[in-house]
Amino acid sequence: NGGGVAVYDAAEDAETPDRMQLFADLRALLDSGDPDGQLRLYYQPQVRLSDGVVTSAEALVRWQHPERGLLLPATFLPVAESRGLEIRLTDHLLGLAVGQAARWRLAGHAFQVAVNVSPGCLVDPGFVARVLSTVADAGLPPRLLCLELTETSIMADPDRAVRALHEVREHGITVSVDDFGTGFSSLAQLRRVPADELKIDRTFMRDLTPGTPDAVMVRSAIDLGHNLGLSMVAEGVEDVAALLRLRELSCEYAQGYALSHPVPADRLPQACRDAEEV
Ligand code: C2E
Ligand code: CA
Ligand code: CA
Ligand code: CA
Repeated sequence: NGGGVAVYDAAEDAETPDRMQLFADLRALLDSGDPDGQLRLYYQPQVRLSDGVVTSAEALVRWQHPERGLLLPATFLPVAESRGLEIRLTDHLLGLAVGQAARWRLAGHAFQVAVNVSPGCLVDPGFVARVLSTVADAGLPPRLLCLELTETSIMADPDRAVRALHEVREHGITVSVDDFGTGFSSLAQLRRVPADELKIDRTFMRDLTPGTPDAVMVRSAIDLGHNLGLSMVAEGVEDVAALLRLRELSCEYAQGYALSHPVPADRLPQACRDAEEV
């Protein structure tokens, strides 16, 4: 997990005054419903490699903090996740993303929006019902929502997680396993996780020249996912050579700076047009 759980370090999590303040600020923001929109979602297009069309966009949170400026998730997500605020934060962001997806659809941009779900959400008994009502209230076709979960989310309580994922998929929502390849028990877990797609972690995208360790890992991951009936997404793709290589390897989708950086919602339509030109 790029900014979160895998790099979690207990020493880093000390109750420093700074972190406590950030936590207090975030809690106050969620209590107030964030009327000024300090919590924002940026969106990064995801392209289908067979024809270059943008089929979805991943929502990535940023916090426009009044004193600290634009904060990346690595700054505040660990604070939220270590102190139990992540469920409320995820609910809030899910509402923003689903509302945005519904507006884009009405404007003729019918791509899927992918929302990152914090570990902890899947073990919350009300989570699935809230997801379903958020989608229904916005009038968004469920197939236009994707939930991205890491292995950590599933491991906390695998039985409950598997049930929750079955339920959201029965309603037509897409389930994606994020950061694939970074967890130790990927293979054991994967057999029973009801998912639609795997996102190969960006740490494997450094050099996809045939024969390099990254290329071997990526090719194996793609074969494994395909044999399990899953679609494959490559994240963190930074150069066009890697895009071409991924297409040769029959990877279905790609996302990364080679196509577009994450951008604010109002810039996404242009970012999609640019990504489709690559
Ligand atoms: P992730 O889900 O693996 O997201 C991909 C991260 O890689 C994002 O960082 C994205 O901006 C960055 N990225 C995209 N393309 C490239 C590329 O070509 N090269 C490189 N080096 N990086 C690229 P970001 O936005 O800082 O998010 C970091 C992590 O924070 C995410 O990793 C995810 O685990 C978490 N996160 C972000 N937004 C949310 C959210 O709304 N809710 C939750 N629960 N977690 C979130
Ligand atoms: Ca997708
Ligand atoms: Ca993700
Ligand atoms: Ca990742």
